[in-house]
Amino acid sequence: MFLDRTWVVGPFQCNCRLLACPKTGYALLVDPGDEPGRIVAELGKLRTPTGLPVQVKYLLHTHGHLDHIGASRPVAESLAAEGAANRPKIALHRGDEELYRALRMQGQLFGLSHYADPLPVDHYLEHEEALRIGELRLSVVHTPGHSPGSVCFRLHEDSTLGVPETLFSGDTLFQGSVGRTDLWGGDQEQMFRSIRDRILVLDDETRVCPGHGPETRIGIEKRENPFL
Ligand SMILES: [Zn+2]
Ligand SMILES: [Zn+2]
Repeated sequence: MFLDRTWVVGPFQCNCRLLACPKTGYALLVDPGDEPGRIVAELGKLRTPTGLPVQVKYLLHTHGHLDHIGASRPVAESLAAEGAANRPKIALHRGDEELYRALRMQGQLFGLSHYADPLPVDHYLEHEEALRIGELRLSVVHTPGHSPGSVCFRLHEDSTLGVPETLFSGDTLFQGSVGRTDLWGGDQEQMFRSIRDRILVLDDETRVCPGHGPETRIGIEKRENPFL
């Protein structure tokens, strides 16, 4: 019953995730990185089990790299065009604001010129901050290293809603791999500290949804990830 979609978007194949409360239809997107037209069209088709439309309240960003933020402005503007109350809040950790604002420059480095300047950040994410979307409960885990403002989002288990305990790990932890730290503001030692102290302490059964590639679990990565 809990609505949960993943759309793999853009040339960097970023996992854009939708999570919606099945009771209210209130929803959030994690990392709307590219293909805004497709994301908005898919959102328009979704309904809760009781027939409510999905209303996106937040665009949450695991970090400020172009492949995770590239569609935020057009998605926010398209939803706002359907009614001002539908304009989702753009949320990011302050540590990546400079990267976020430099979206067009990031695009130029990859020869991509289609990005517009991003909208201002509406909400600065803080470590251990709690977020509520309808009846969905999330919290923010600041995991610097891949970038200074990289965060993961914990979605807390709720058996009545059919929600499993999940971590959205951005580009910090992947199935069988970890994030690169050779990009602007990257710090390998800090990233491994974040993974050890803030990610691997979670329950082994926690489902992990990375910013690229397939899902995994904390316990599987502890046992099998060659980088850990
Ligand atoms: Zn990244
Ligand atoms: Zn990425």
